[in-house]
Amino acid sequence: MNTAVPSRHRLRIFEIYDSIQGESTLAGMPCTLVRLAGCPLRCSYCDTPQAIPTDSGQWINVEDVVQKVAAFNRPLVLVTGGEPLAQRYTVELLSALHESGCIVQLETAGAYSIENIPACIRRIIDIKTPGSGEVERNCLQNLDLLTEGDEIKFVLTDRSDYEWARDFIHAHRLGEGEVPVLFSPAWGNMNAADLCAWVLEDHLPVRVQMQMHKTIWGAEAEGV
Ligand code: SF4
Repeated sequence: MNTAVPSRHRLRIFEIYDSIQGESTLAGMPCTLVRLAGCPLRCSYCDTPQAIPTDSGQWINVEDVVQKVAAFNRPLVLVTGGEPLAQRYTVELLSALHESGCIVQLETAGAYSIENIPACIRRIIDIKTPGSGEVERNCLQNLDLLTEGDEIKFVLTDRSDYEWARDFIHAHRLGEGEVPVLFSPAWGNMNAADLCAWVLEDHLPVRVQMQMHKTIWGAEAEGV
């Protein structure tokens, strides 16, 4: 337990559970997921709409979250949402989890600046495509703040989304350095085989990823 964090540092937590990381370059690792409540975005493909309301979940102090995560004794913790960066004490939570000895991943919609997120946190930044309905929310300054350990993710809904993302990575020279770019088909919206064929045809410097947890437990399963 991190006793240095004041008990007034609390966050709205939707759920904390034991699973495997289903996405990212660390997919397949045993992982504790901390899902924060509340999100100001409304993506067309959102698979956690139950965590969008800011009054969903419950208030939990940072030190109690760390204690719950420690009880699962996993090497990796993913802080996701909802939108984690919409809450006031997310940096304190991330730092406390890192101090507890876990590898910490943060998954964010990319609508908020990551400038205050310590580089020891592995930041997974979504780039919202037109098909998400939230493309205007992208905080593009984040692209200049990414370092080794971070990742960029595009969730794609159709061929036009793919072409938009392809042109975006070329324009911003993504995928050429130490930050991997992930292309993920929106579950139920897009044929993954088509996406693979397009990536191969265009020789894109990206990784195609599937949501492993949905393949294992089904798209409707919660808490796994
Ligand atoms: S940012 Fe994430 S939680 Fe928020 S609406 Fe989009 S997919 Fe859902």
